[in-house]
Amino acid sequence: MIMDKQNINIFVISSPSGGGKTSLIKKLLEDPRSEGTFLSISHTTREKRLNEKDGVDYFFTDKKSFEDKIKKNDFLEYATVFDNYYGTSQETVNILVSQGKTVILELDWQGAKQVKSKIPCYLIFLLPPSIDDLKKRLIDRNLDESEIIEKRINEAKNEISNSEIYDFLILNDNFEMALKDLKSIILDRCDPKDFVKRMTSSHVKKLLE
Ligand code: 5GP
Repeated sequence: MIMDKQNINIFVISSPSGGGKTSLIKKLLEDPRSEGTFLSISHTTREKRLNEKDGVDYFFTDKKSFEDKIKKNDFLEYATVFDNYYGTSQETVNILVSQGKTVILELDWQGAKQVKSKIPCYLIFLLPPSIDDLKKRLIDRNLDESEIIEKRINEAKNEISNSEIYDFLILNDNFEMALKDLKSIILDRCDPKDFVKRMTSSHVKKLLE
């Protein structure tokens, strides 16, 4: 598929769990210039957390309904993450795109790869300053049991090792700086070749050591 870079209206954002993407996206959407920009709500079979609402954070569903949707080709992409299904409704994205809206998809790397192979989009990856910092964020947010946190840290390295397929790498060492980077990509439509990375190329390597 030939991409017309001027008209890319789909932005996929990934980061290891605890990488801070949800708060950054929330803040970005508060910017008046974000009018016409929507965050797609995914379907998942994961248990709802205490602070989450069905239809707001996710569409929480059971395995059977999710698998029925897979059979009906209802998903633009779907993946198994931490033993649960997560997927993006094809119809929702189609409607938003046909209305000329900008769509943000918060996906893991498997989903990002699928979307990239199907439609013109930009992939953005949020990198943590260090694995220790990521661990601290997961502990501080107090959402997961310690066993799950260990699992998420192990998966983080796998996720980071796939960051090479992404068009933009943002260093999330400082909320305001990372937000500025995200705004320049999504609101100012900065081209990947003009994007100034606030990290050296060895940063990813270091995270994987
Ligand atoms: P959490 O359970 O912490 O909300 O999300 C776990 C992971 O699933 C995160 O990396 C998140 O980006 C990813 N995720 C959320 N929704 C989707 C989706 O619709 N598709 C895919 N492939 N990943 C998703």
